[in-house]
Amino acid sequence: GLHVRGVSKAFGATPVLRGAALEVADGALAAVLGPSGCGKTTLLRVVAGFERADAGSVRIGGKEVGGLAPEKRRVGIVPQEAALFPHLSVAGNVGFGLGRRSRSAGVAARVEECLELVGLGGYGTRMPYQLSGGQQQRVALARALAPRPGVVLLDEPFNALDRSLRGTVRDDVRAALKKAGATAVLVTHDQEEALSMADTVAVMRDGVIVQQGTPEELYARPADLGVATFVGEAV
Ligand code: ATP
Repeated sequence: GLHVRGVSKAFGATPVLRGAALEVADGALAAVLGPSGCGKTTLLRVVAGFERADAGSVRIGGKEVGGLAPEKRRVGIVPQEAALFPHLSVAGNVGFGLGRRSRSAGVAARVEECLELVGLGGYGTRMPYQLSGGQQQRVALARALAPRPGVVLLDEPFNALDRSLRGTVRDDVRAALKKAGATAVLVTHDQEEALSMADTVAVMRDGVIVQQGTPEELYARPADLGVATFVGEAV
């Protein structure tokens, strides 16, 4: 699982995270839901190790990672846009993080296994430009899953997609995460996306998580009027 406790981060004199806490059980998908500028991306960057927190702790799979470099944290990242290497095949992209022995049979098998998880079995020899935006995003997820990360971080992964595509890609991504048994955090400003995809939703405001719970808990017992209004917008 992922355990974030009391994480604070300021840029210069501006506090962006002010004691944020987030709990994600093994195999669970948590959404971090909040308006633009509340600190969602910064929180992910602290978990990933691209930013060093001023205070607080981050544990992944039971291990404190606060002092570790990003590549030592066993974190998989799915960015807003798939950002695949255009000159590498789909298999080359998915296998990229698996080390230099990328032609070994073990790596090829893991690559195909991950492509099957995202519903793209047999697509390994295609090139990124031959894929739709939704397929590229699923390749990005396969790439993130391949090294068996302790946690997968998805930062507004559907932003670049057509509205009409989003629903099915969301379903595919959720299904793949569940099949992989992945522990995952999805950052979004979209209430419907958070409530429909996630096991728990963490409502973020001004650098803190005001409340984290299942969608049902947030509806039934919102911590304050702000949460009630924000969660209610999706109904
Ligand atoms: P969005 O959905 O718009 O990306 P967000 O909730 O992800 O918003 P962050 O990107 O974490 O929010 O940014 C929160 C605040 O921190 C913003 O006011 C932003 O300008 C500021 N900020 C983020 N990174 C830096 C940085 N490296 N230096 C200075 N300020 C920063």
